[in-house]
Amino acid sequence: MKSFSKLFLLSAASLTALSALGLSSCDTKTTAVAQPALAQPTLAQSELAQTELAQPALAQPVKAKNVILFIGDGMGISTITAARIFDGQSKGMNGEGNRLSFEEFQNLALVKTYNLDAQVADSAGTASAMNTGMKTQIGKINVQPDGLYAGCADSTATPPTLFADLAENAGMSTGIVSTARLTHATPAAVYGHAQSRGWEIDSEISKDGQEKGCIDLAAQLVAYGGKGANAGLEVALGGGQGAFFGKDEGGMRKDGQNLAIKWAKKSNAHSYVDTVSDLNAIDAATGQNVLGLFGKSHMSYEVDRDKGVQPSLTEMTRFAIDNLAARDTGYFLMVEAGRIDHAHHATNAYRALSETQELARAVALADEMTSDEDTLILVTADHSHVFTIAGYPKAGNPILGLVVSPESEDGKPSLAGDKLPYTTLGYHNGPHIRDDVEQTDNMVQDKDYKQQTAIKRASETHGGEDVALFAKGPGAEQVHGIIDQAEIFDIMGKAVGVVD
Ligand SMILES: [Zn+2]
Repeated sequence: MKSFSKLFLLSAASLTALSALGLSSCDTKTTAVAQPALAQPTLAQSELAQTELAQPALAQPVKAKNVILFIGDGMGISTITAARIFDGQSKGMNGEGNRLSFEEFQNLALVKTYNLDAQVADSAGTASAMNTGMKTQIGKINVQPDGLYAGCADSTATPPTLFADLAENAGMSTGIVSTARLTHATPAAVYGHAQSRGWEIDSEISKDGQEKGCIDLAAQLVAYGGKGANAGLEVALGGGQGAFFGKDEGGMRKDGQNLAIKWAKKSNAHSYVDTVSDLNAIDAATGQNVLGLFGKSHMSYEVDRDKGVQPSLTEMTRFAIDNLAARDTGYFLMVEAGRIDHAHHATNAYRALSETQELARAVALADEMTSDEDTLILVTADHSHVFTIAGYPKAGNPILGLVVSPESEDGKPSLAGDKLPYTTLGYHNGPHIRDDVEQTDNMVQDKDYKQQTAIKRASETHGGEDVALFAKGPGAEQVHGIIDQAEIFDIMGKAVGVVD
């Protein structure tokens, strides 16, 4: 266990260095089914065995002890398909036949993602649906449609109950992990309420909001659950230091508060860290409640990460599961691969796919570290992107490459109507419209290449089609058919017994 004062000294030094940055398996479940003992059962025995097989619930635990919700932000189905091929090809294997870790899960549903007032959703509305069982309007976090300023001191509106509230009330531990800022819409929806997703920091709250006594999401994270060793989030790891410190300490808070100190003062079992080495120095058995902020804004993309400073999504997932499981209370953990979305907004398919690959690694690790007997693992996306895989490339063609057709005899790329080659991956809209430059395979497979778009737009947009939900463990049988995103709240709640 490390003392807070030492950790904070490290924190201040790292913040100074970072101030230039802008804020801008145990697979045992199948064996639990009753097995006929005799090689040649009599008819009666056979019927008995079938009766037992028809009632597997009697041999299964009724509830999950733990639930882990993985969210690939912006990980639409085309992203999963392309990442599967990217992952296979990057290992020198067949790409099309590859499977990402969560594609092995047996329970699957399609999920409708729209917001109350938007056909094409944003992350605030979608994360609200998963965390409260109720959709919101686009850009709003866990507030009812008519519940103006819910959660603010001077508002009479009642904010919806969060899944984390139910878990906390049931004595479970709770945690969030994200490669985005912990105040960004998806992680913030686990613990917070805000009329605008932009209220990550006090300086961004509208005048109306300030008059209503609304507090920013960083302050809400620290205040969540009140004081005491078992109150609030036990683990919160991600980016977003800027919203937790005043300007004197390299942050951007107008009120000058040091929220890392405030976190540490919640109890003597609360610690703050800002490097991977300090994170790894905390022994899970010590029961420390850990706030880890690794970067002023979002964490780096996995391909750009400074491994000596920032943990990977997989490393944060390992820490969170070790820490939460050691408490033996049962836990709710939300893990977000937050930057698939950001790479897509820039039409940078390489980083969107490598971030998805990292999410698949984190899911594989979580599956290894937990038992199918007591842990429900869900993997989904909040919404899709306008990302396509197209143009009849031959099997085995590099997924990031120029389209070479199965009929090509000289191996040369196919040509479009403008006599220029084109890539398999593309976007409906975004910053990089097609020009008359002849692109080469070297250019388009570079990690910094930005795929072409049909419609010019400063930032590529989300897509409106359904996303996938993969599930395994107790409660996974609820995941089938086409569901509304808000039903994920019920699926989790029924699995751990906090929702009827
Ligand atoms: Zn987005």
